[in-house]
Amino acid sequence: MTETNRSFLEYAPAPESQAILNLKKSYGLFIDGEFVKGHGTPFATISPATELHIAEIANANAKDVDTAVVAARRAYDRTWSKLSGADRGKYLFRIARLVQERARELAVAESLDNGKPIKESRDVDIPLVAAWFFYYAGWADKLDYAGLGAAPRALGVAAQVIPWNFPLLMLAWKIAPALAAGNTVVLKPAETTPLSALLFAEILQQAELPAGVVNILTGAGDTGEALVNHPDVNKVAFTGSTAVGRAIARSTAGSGKKLTLELGGKAANIVFDDAPIDQAIEGIVNGIFFNQGHVCCAGSRLLVQENIHDEVVDRLKQRLSTLRMGDPLDKNTDIGAINSREQLNRIRELSDIGEGEGATRWSAPCDIPKTGFWFAPTIFTNVSTSNRIAREEIFGPVLSVLSFRTPAEAIAKANNTPYGLSAGIWSDKGSKILAVADQLKAGVIWANTFNRFDPASPFGGYKESGYGREGGRHGLAAYLQTSQRVEPTETVASTRSIARKAVKS
Ligand code: NAD
Repeated sequence: MTETNRSFLEYAPAPESQAILNLKKSYGLFIDGEFVKGHGTPFATISPATELHIAEIANANAKDVDTAVVAARRAYDRTWSKLSGADRGKYLFRIARLVQERARELAVAESLDNGKPIKESRDVDIPLVAAWFFYYAGWADKLDYAGLGAAPRALGVAAQVIPWNFPLLMLAWKIAPALAAGNTVVLKPAETTPLSALLFAEILQQAELPAGVVNILTGAGDTGEALVNHPDVNKVAFTGSTAVGRAIARSTAGSGKKLTLELGGKAANIVFDDAPIDQAIEGIVNGIFFNQGHVCCAGSRLLVQENIHDEVVDRLKQRLSTLRMGDPLDKNTDIGAINSREQLNRIRELSDIGEGEGATRWSAPCDIPKTGFWFAPTIFTNVSTSNRIAREEIFGPVLSVLSFRTPAEAIAKANNTPYGLSAGIWSDKGSKILAVADQLKAGVIWANTFNRFDPASPFGGYKESGYGREGGRHGLAAYLQTSQRVEPTETVASTRSIARKAVKS
């Protein structure tokens, strides 16, 4: 924070108390309704803001994976597949209410383990987790009316592997539709953020979910690999990097396992000269600096119309100079810690490459805490479409700014990426938004907003961003055997209707 800003914007620290947490020193694997010891070497989970040890975490090896899949299969055969949809829905409603009851505790745990600001985990992540369970609880007894064909049936055992950027929210995106559709689950959280999944396991015990319906295995990539390759798994749902997604697609090919992949992105956020500039500046900041830019659908490429380029960049720099970086548990914090040293190194490396390739780097003036992993919000201008910072996913608080003159050029540049997860369009003209949205190859398109999520709205990518949809009734289709599939064109149509709705509002 510069001296100028300090005089206007001095806040007293307002840290959220950790007293609400009742953490154990060590956590086992959650298999068949109980916490049990793992057979791998345990590892520590740390706070990325302080590098302090939080808890020791069990590590599942192939034997543990097998035990968990056997438990999930048994629960599927004996209990879960025998329950009516209405009864499954009651469990989901119960889980949703318990998430709400324990919301503050979950938010503190998430910020501690992940490094994200408490105001985001408290106001975005955890409310959305509850919303996802409420939403799919409502679908559990209505599967016949979801437009998925006659008498849809569950697949069986679902293996789910998730990343570290939205640990509990990604868990909810995976578990809620799987259970609503009648599947049982073995889920592996990311190795740097296992904590909230383990608290969620306690919630499952509180909800008296039948043993084995959900199993949670902590561990690293080898645990995930053993899980997705287990022969008794019927469905694999993966969210993470494109490289790992590719490996999973190869290893599951021909196995008969149904696969959905939610992978990386390099989204274009397109700002036309008729856009409401004040809102656009906030939308650009939210698009790339929300959650330290650890967002698969982040608006990491800003495409701004040439005649307003300098004004937008100046105003962005002013706005970024007011953001507060620091303790994730402080309610005033806007930018938290980078989740791991490994991720910090990757962000630093790609940013250095950006400078080396000739782009101009500007970082917001902030005090960097002495311990932990931090990266100041950064903007690159004079970026060329061939620069690596314009092509590769940085997955950090780094924005590449490019300019365009005509809508056709904006569309060509936006689509010039191997990814196709999301995009944003800022304009005063609804007709322009619809015309441009029609030509963007992206699964989700936001109009005059960015990074908005709703359980009723399908989310997913094209090209190297993966395939399959999560959210909405499309998310159910991924966990059901049906006689009639939801066609991809419907996904496009519903995405357009979202854009239209956003324009109207
Ligand atoms: P990652 O691919 O390294 O790891 C994701 C998960 O996969 C982790 O749990 C990890 O332990 C596990 N894993 C690693 N190797 C594995 C293997 N060979 N087999 C099975 N599992 C394996 O990704 P990450 O660094 O944790 O997450 C960041 C990535 O996730 C980014 O690319 C981001 O765009 C993507 N992401 C996508 C979405 C989406 O919805 N499209 C959402 C969030 C994150």
